[in-house]
Amino acid sequence: MNDDQFQTLTRLSAVASVYGASWVVANTVLPGWTHGLVATLLAVAPVVLILGIASSLGFELSGGQCRAATTDGSRCSRSRPPNRDCCWQHRELHDVTLHPEGIDEKTRAAEDDLVVR
Ligand SMILES: [Zn+2]
Repeated sequence: MNDDQFQTLTRLSAVASVYGASWVVANTVLPGWTHGLVATLLAVAPVVLILGIASSLGFELSGGQCRAATTDGSRCSRSRPPNRDCCWQHRELHDVTLHPEGIDEKTRAAEDDLVVR
């Protein structure tokens, strides 16, 4: 699953759950005071589910430290977006060397995903 597919899936599930929630509230006999609560639950649950599935597939939900090595050999200290190896500046370069620490971190994350499954 790539970034675009993930975002499409998340948006679709959000839209579907809002429609689903309004249908349930309109077509079932629930006490009036529960409508807001049920609508909220039905809207939030699918999104939480999708995020859980994505996370268990190894999809990063938050960023971290850039994995590139700087010219002096130390690790870049800027932050990178989720599912990317490098910060905005290192992504623009054509020849980027990953810092050994960054490679270790990526390997460990991949191994953790295998263990979870
Ligand atoms: Zn960087």
